[in-house]
Amino acid sequence: MTDATAQLLDGKAIAAELRQQIKTQVEQRLADGLSAPGLAVILVGENAASQVYVRNKRKSCDEVGFVSKSIDLPIDTSQDTLLEQIDRLNADPEIHGILVQLPLPDHIDADIVIEHIHPDKDVDGFHPYNIGKLTLRMPRLQPCTPKGVMTMLAKTGQELAGLDAVIIGQSNIVGRPMALELLMARCTITVCHSKTKDLEAKVRNADIVVAAVGVPEFVPGAWIKPGAIVIDVGINRLDSGKLVGDVEFAGAAKNAAWITPVPGGVGPMTVATLLENTLLAAKLATDSGT
Ligand code: NAP
Repeated sequence: MTDATAQLLDGKAIAAELRQQIKTQVEQRLADGLSAPGLAVILVGENAASQVYVRNKRKSCDEVGFVSKSIDLPIDTSQDTLLEQIDRLNADPEIHGILVQLPLPDHIDADIVIEHIHPDKDVDGFHPYNIGKLTLRMPRLQPCTPKGVMTMLAKTGQELAGLDAVIIGQSNIVGRPMALELLMARCTITVCHSKTKDLEAKVRNADIVVAAVGVPEFVPGAWIKPGAIVIDVGINRLDSGKLVGDVEFAGAAKNAAWITPVPGGVGPMTVATLLENTLLAAKLATDSGT
């Protein structure tokens, strides 16, 4: 028996639904004589976690009928060699999306690499052009994790405009673009980080809490305001091997109206949104006649 009141925002189920919609659209493209969307995934080195992420992304591509190209490069690959590889993919008409799995080895500057990807093929949505477009409320290719969170929030059926949203974490890939997405939805946003004063008071006041810190169960469940929506982006593996989020789930579920589980919450949505972005990139290429 549990006294949890929150409804679960089931990322696994929402992602499966999104993949099905993408698959149908790919079939329609092929029926219309257009090419299947093509995604190139570049992995430099053999980071164990990256290998799992990349395998997942490539498998998801196959499931929805995309063409996927795998480029696995040794850890000592020079930055110039990686940039040349990106040049080739930028020019390849069968490739609509290019993803370079992060983190990169220390001798490679990730910012230079990201800026080298053509913005129309930047399916991670990290290129300064795409971040700029999002900032100006003209979204094009949007960062996958925050965009996936917005898809989940839409599933609650709640009107987001006017809600107070607290984002914990200000990284370029999660916290910052998440703030831009929620602002575009006309939430009132507060972005918190390691220098934030009285985080507890801010969280206690929030209608939406997005936690992206990377510290297991960092947010006590008791801080969650009754009726709030809790989005837990964190993925942390405990010594026991168990995966937990950045929010203390059991306590938060007693107060929240909606909550994402870990695993099975934001994680699957990030990968499904990457596919959504690749389909969008293929449409952009078709529309521009390239
Ligand atoms: P990150 O770059 O390490 O950023 C962590 C953020 O947390 C920083 O902005 C940091 O503040 C802030 N922070 C650290 N300690 C804090 C404290 N005591 N109080 C308030 N804020 C604090 O992490 P990230 O890349 O955004 O990832 C965050 C988590 O999400 C990780 O667990 C990661 O594995 C997970 N993740 C999941 C997905 C997914 O698909 N589900 C995708 C990406 C990431 P400062 O800036 O001041 O240092």
